[in-house]
Amino acid sequence: MREIVIVGGGYAGFYTAWGLEKSLRAGEARVTVVDPRPYMTYQPFLPEVTAGSIEARHAAVSLRRHLRSTRLIAGTVTEIRHADRTITVRPVGGADYDLGYDTLVVTAGAVTRTFPIPGLAEQAIGLKHVEEAVAIRDRLMTAFDQAASLPPGVERRKLLTVTFVGGGFSGVEGFGELLSLATAMLKSYPELSLDDLSFHLVEARGRILPEVGDEPGAWVVRSLERRGARVHLNTQLVSAVDGHVVLSSGEEFDSALIVWTAGNASNPVVHNHTDLPVDERGLLVVRPDLRMGTDSEPVADVWAAGDDAAVPDLALPGPGARTVPNAQHAVRQGKRLAKNIAADLHGGRIRNYRHSSLGVVATLGLGRGIFQYKSLVIKGLPAWLMHRGYHVLAVPTWERKIRVLTVWLTAALFGRDLVSLASVQHPRDAFVASSDMQGSGGSRASDRPAA
Ligand SMILES: Cc1cc2nc3c(=O)[nH]c(=O)nc-3n(C[C@H](O)[C@H](O)[C@H](O)COP(=O)(O)OP(=O)(O)OC[C@H]3O[C@@H](n4cnc5c(N)ncnc54)[C@H](O)[C@@H]3O)c2cc1C
Repeated sequence: MREIVIVGGGYAGFYTAWGLEKSLRAGEARVTVVDPRPYMTYQPFLPEVTAGSIEARHAAVSLRRHLRSTRLIAGTVTEIRHADRTITVRPVGGADYDLGYDTLVVTAGAVTRTFPIPGLAEQAIGLKHVEEAVAIRDRLMTAFDQAASLPPGVERRKLLTVTFVGGGFSGVEGFGELLSLATAMLKSYPELSLDDLSFHLVEARGRILPEVGDEPGAWVVRSLERRGARVHLNTQLVSAVDGHVVLSSGEEFDSALIVWTAGNASNPVVHNHTDLPVDERGLLVVRPDLRMGTDSEPVADVWAAGDDAAVPDLALPGPGARTVPNAQHAVRQGKRLAKNIAADLHGGRIRNYRHSSLGVVATLGLGRGIFQYKSLVIKGLPAWLMHRGYHVLAVPTWERKIRVLTVWLTAALFGRDLVSLASVQHPRDAFVASSDMQGSGGSRASDRPAA
């Protein structure tokens, strides 16, 4: 049996494995997905997870449930040595080992791009993973609870100050959704008012949402500002030490929640720990049919797609265009990859990847959105409905669509199901505290290892 190994079970990896399950003949090849996470993250749902509009579990598509005949390895690939047809796997718990392959698919995605800004690593959080979205939601809710019991002043102001750095797609969506959540929560907190909230979106460039045109981008800024937010264009974060935000404009304020959404960097394994060809940005060099290498220097038996690859964009005019890193491409590249690998095995025709953009649709918070397809721009509620409609259709499997729809429908009837479960991070605290109070403890809760 041929060994097909897929590095990363996110969008592109999941769809490649799923497609191979459908198109390979029995006994022809064994497909293995290596990923430290047991699920594919449906990242477009993360902004709604921060807002409590989608259950965290629903943004995680279980690999084991949906990839029935694929072998799954819970681990991180730390090195790819194509010269030996080998990858090194660091399993979740256990020692590193080598895994051989006949065909390799690299779909390890990208990582959050950061800069050496003082305080950033200690204070900020990203918005790329389910746990980050949940933590952002819980932190805001906990901050509301704490602020409600404080008199107006510096400490209360800090708790209710939220800063997003990066006005790209994920930053604007996360910011808009969190603003919408915070505004909605005020109804349950008579101690607090809209004036107590301070939401800042910091963007280094002169505009936000580069995926849409200048005018729609400016409309998004105005719409956020109408809702009480501050959008700092042409501004960079200079320091975030102890949650004290210093901007390049000279403005300074304390912020209890700093979310870093300032773009993607290439996956470090792909960039630094492989003998595969990468470009100057650290992205894998692939041909239009998603095989690695160039026409003059092909790399046999390796394919790549998604955010970790520089895929030629045949739908755009002129040479040198590359597909933008988004789910729209990653899904379709994964599907094309599966068909091409099967065709390669069966002696069929391998086709180039080509996809013309379906446009851009973004949520800006409950009932608000923006859509653009070429010169057609739709704003507000219709765009938001399109956003929800598109994503509920796009999330893989009917089971997931129905779960998400059910949450949306129950929220429409009863409102969002809002409560901070930040205490799940410390599950033994209550048990240890009660044990201490009964005198059967012997040590303080803080002295004991976490569960
Ligand atoms: C908040 C947010 C909202 C978004 N909204 C949209 C949207 O509305 N529309 C849209 O088109 N796009 C959107 N995107 C972008 C889209 O989600 C990504 O472009 C897409 O996920 C890329 O797919 P991928 O398969 O390349 O990478 P991912 O989906 O990131 O998958 C990579 C996988 O590889 C695994 N991995 C990483 N390193 C290793 C390793 N060393 N070994 C093994 N496994 C590894 C990871 O655990 C992960 O499962 C959004 C992104 C974010 C963060």
